[in-house]
Amino acid sequence: MAQITVTGLSTVYPNGVRAVDGLDLTVADGEFFALLGPSGCGKTTLLRTIAGLEQATEGTLSIGDRDVTSVEPGKRNVAMVFQDYALFPHMTVTENIAYPLRVRRQPKATQQEVAARTAASLSLSALLERRPGQLSGGQQQRVALARAVAMDADVLLLDEPLSNLDARLRLEARTFLKRLQRELGVTTVFVTHDQAEALALADRIAVMEAGRIRQLGSPREVFARPADTFVANFIGSTPMNLLDGVVEGGQVAVAGATLPAPLPLDDGTKVVVGIRPEYLALGADGITGTVSTVENLGVSSLLTLECPDGTLVGVTVREQHEPAVGARVTVAPEAGRLLLYGKEDGRLL
Ligand code: ATP
Repeated sequence: MAQITVTGLSTVYPNGVRAVDGLDLTVADGEFFALLGPSGCGKTTLLRTIAGLEQATEGTLSIGDRDVTSVEPGKRNVAMVFQDYALFPHMTVTENIAYPLRVRRQPKATQQEVAARTAASLSLSALLERRPGQLSGGQQQRVALARAVAMDADVLLLDEPLSNLDARLRLEARTFLKRLQRELGVTTVFVTHDQAEALALADRIAVMEAGRIRQLGSPREVFARPADTFVANFIGSTPMNLLDGVVEGGQVAVAGATLPAPLPLDDGTKVVVGIRPEYLALGADGITGTVSTVENLGVSSLLTLECPDGTLVGVTVREQHEPAVGARVTVAPEAGRLLLYGKEDGRLL
C-alpha cells in the first residue's frame, strides 16, 4: 500500500513565503494524481515536500502506514523525475538507469538485468550505449522515467515531465506515460501547469492557487462543474464564458436574454453565469449577438458574439456551421450546462 496522506501541511520558505498553506490531501494507492495550477501556486513545493527535498513547516505526511514527515529523502522510497531530467551526462543510458541500484550496492548482474528490462519496457533497448547528449528530448525523458522506475519506489513524483518536449512529442509521451503508469500501478503525483495534460492523464486533479487546493476531483468533474470562477477560468482550452446575470422569476437575465435558471434563487440575486463555448449551440431561442471574430481551431471555430448590451460571448461551432463575421446569430446552452456562481465569492451555487 502506498497511499499518500497529507494533513494540515504547510511549507514556508525562509523568506516567509507560505508556498503550501495548510493542505489536506489523500492520494490513493496506485492513483495517477495531478497537481495543477498557475506559476507560483505552490505545486512544485508540494511535490518537493512529498519527496523530502523541502521540509514541512507544519502538518504531517505519510506514505502507506509510515509517517515520513521527518524522514530524509533517500529513505522515503520515492522516485522523482525532474523537469530537466537531471541525467548524468557522462554515463550511458544503461548506467543512468542502473544508477539507483548501484547506489544501493546491488550486484552488477542485477543492475544490468534491471536496466535492460526497464529500458525495453520504455522502448530504449536500441539506445543503451548512448550518452544523454546523443538523445532526443523525448528519449531523455524516457531514460529519466526508466531510472525512476528502476528504483522500484512506492511513489513516483513527476515535475512537469513533458514540458521540455515539442507539441507532437508531448502527445506521444503522454500516451506512453499513461500506459506505463497503468502497467506499473505505482502511486504517481505529477505537477503540471497545463490543464489539457492534467485532464488527459490524471485519475484526479487538485487545482491549486496560492498554496491551497481550490478544487479536487476527476477530470470530468473539474471540467463540467468548476467549483469557482478561478477554476472555471483555468480549466478548458477555450475559456469559459463568465457573464454578469440577475435572477428574475426562475430565469436569469444575461447578455440581453433570459435563460432558465438551473436552481431556485431569490429574485434580484446577482450572479455570474458560467457557460463553456463548447456547450452553446446555434438555435432559435437564446442569446443573440453579432459575430465579431472567428478563430479557426481546426475541426471547430471559436466565434465571439457581441451582444447589444456589449457583452462578449465565446461560442464553439463545427467548421461547416461557421457563420461569417457580421452575421447575427442566436445561441442557447445545452441542457444542464449552465452554471451559476456567486457574484461576491465566485463559488459555484
Ligand atoms: P512554477 O510552475 O512556476 O514552478 P509552482 O506552482 O510550482 O510554480 P512553487 O515553485 O512551488 O510554485 O513556488 C511557490 C511560491 O514559493 C512562489 O511564490 C515562489 O516564488 C516561492 N518559492 C519557491 N521556491 C522558493 C525558495 N527556494 N525560496 C523562497 N521562495 C520560494
